[in-house]
Amino acid sequence: MSFTSSSFLMDASNTPNTINFRDLLNKSILQSDIVRIFDYLLTIGVEEGASDIHVEPFENYCRIRIRIDGVLEELVQYPKSFHESIISKFKIESGQMRPDEKRLPQDARVSAITQTNKEIDLRANTLPTVRWEKLVMRIVDKSKEIPSLKMLGIDGSNGAILRKALDYPNGIMLNTWPTGSGKTTTLYSCLSDINKIEVNITTFEDPVENKMMWLNQSQVRWDIGFTFASGLRAALRQDPDIIMVWEIRDRETLEMAMESAMTGHLVFSTIHTNSAVETITRVLNMGAESYMMAGTFNLVIAQRLWRKVCSNCATKVLIKDDAKYLYAKKTFTNFDKEALKAEIQSRGITQEQRTDFFVNGYMAQWTGKDSKTWEICSVCNGSGYKGRMWLYEMMDYTDQIKVMLLDKKSAFEIGKFALQNWMIDLERDWIFKAIQGKLDLNEIYRFVKMTTG
Ligand SMILES: [Zn+2]
Repeated sequence: MSFTSSSFLMDASNTPNTINFRDLLNKSILQSDIVRIFDYLLTIGVEEGASDIHVEPFENYCRIRIRIDGVLEELVQYPKSFHESIISKFKIESGQMRPDEKRLPQDARVSAITQTNKEIDLRANTLPTVRWEKLVMRIVDKSKEIPSLKMLGIDGSNGAILRKALDYPNGIMLNTWPTGSGKTTTLYSCLSDINKIEVNITTFEDPVENKMMWLNQSQVRWDIGFTFASGLRAALRQDPDIIMVWEIRDRETLEMAMESAMTGHLVFSTIHTNSAVETITRVLNMGAESYMMAGTFNLVIAQRLWRKVCSNCATKVLIKDDAKYLYAKKTFTNFDKEALKAEIQSRGITQEQRTDFFVNGYMAQWTGKDSKTWEICSVCNGSGYKGRMWLYEMMDYTDQIKVMLLDKKSAFEIGKFALQNWMIDLERDWIFKAIQGKLDLNEIYRFVKMTTG
C-alpha cells in the first residue's frame, strides 16, 4: 500500500523536524485531500512515537486520536460527512478489506512509507459502531533501532537477575504483559545481546517486527499449519542453541518449549498474564506439571511502559497524607531490610532522595509550568510528561522457589515469599523510579497492582 504522494518535496530547510505535520494534516482535511490525510497521519504517528491511531465517528462530528506514551490524545476533528470517504479510501488502498462490507469487522496488515521515508507496518481493523465504522491502526515502526539492554533502564537487582538468566545455557525465560507494553522490544534487546557467532538462534514470530542481522527469523503461517509448536519441533532439527517463540498460547507449544529446555536449549517466549507471579497459575492451568516448571523455568519478566515526568518543570511536593504515598510506603513494610538497603544502593538513590521519601514524604511532581517565568513549559508543552520508561518485575526461579513449586505451594504463597525476600515487582520499581524523580505517584495504582509484601 502506498499513501505517500511523490509530489511532496523536502528541501534542506524543510527537514522532518521543522515541518509541522499537524498543520499539514489540518490543511489536507480542509481540502478534503484523503490521500494526504493518511500520509500525514502515519507520519505524525511515527515521528511522535504513537503506537495507535483511532479514526472515530460520532453524532455531530468525527475525530482522530493517537496513543502516545500509553495515553490517547485528540489530533483533529472533522465533519461527519467526510467520514465514510476516509474509511472507504483506506479499505480500497489496503487491498484487503471490502469497501461494500460495512456490517462486519475487517482486518488488514499492510506496509507503508511515511513522508519522512520510514518503513512501517500497519495492523488495521474496522469495527461497525451504532453510527459508522471505526478504524484503528497499530503502527509498527520497522526503522526503529533495537535498544541495548543498558538503554532499557533495568535497574538494581532486576538488571542482575536478567543478566544471570541470559547467561544460562538452558531453560525458559518468559515475558508477560498485554500488547503495547514494549515486551517485544525487551525480547529483541535480549536476543541482540546474546547473538554471538558461537550460538545458533532461531525465532518464530507473528509478525516479524524487526529483521535483525545474523538471526534466523521465521514468520509462522497459521493458514498452512506452520504454528509455534510445529516451528519449535522443526527448530530442534536445526542444531539450535537458543529458540524464541513469539507466544505460548496453547498446551502443545508449552510442552514443546519445556521439552526443548529439558534437552539443553535456552527458550524465550511471551505469555498473557497480568503479573510474573500469576504466570505460575496460568502455566499449571495449561496442563504443565509443577516438577516440569521447576525443572525448566529460569525467569518470568512482567513489564509496563509509562510516561516520564518532565524534568524541566517538575517540583517537589509534600504528599505525606496522600493515600497513594501511604500505600507506596507500605509495600516495603515486610521487605527484607538488607535487600531494601542493597536495592537503594544499587540504583544509586541518594541519601537526600531517601530521606525525602521515607522520612519527610516529599515526591517529584510535574507542574507543566516553567519555574521562573510561570509560563507553559516549553519542553513538555504543559503536559508534565516527556518520554517514556519501562518498568520491570522479575520473578527469578531461585532454588527456594523451585522447592516451593515441587512442594505444590500456591502461586500466592510463592509470590508472597519472593516479595518478602528479594523481589522487585512493578509497584516497587515504580516507587524507586518515583523516588529518583523519574515518575510520579499520581497514576501508579491505575497501572500496577498493590502488593503488601
Ligand atoms: Zn515540562
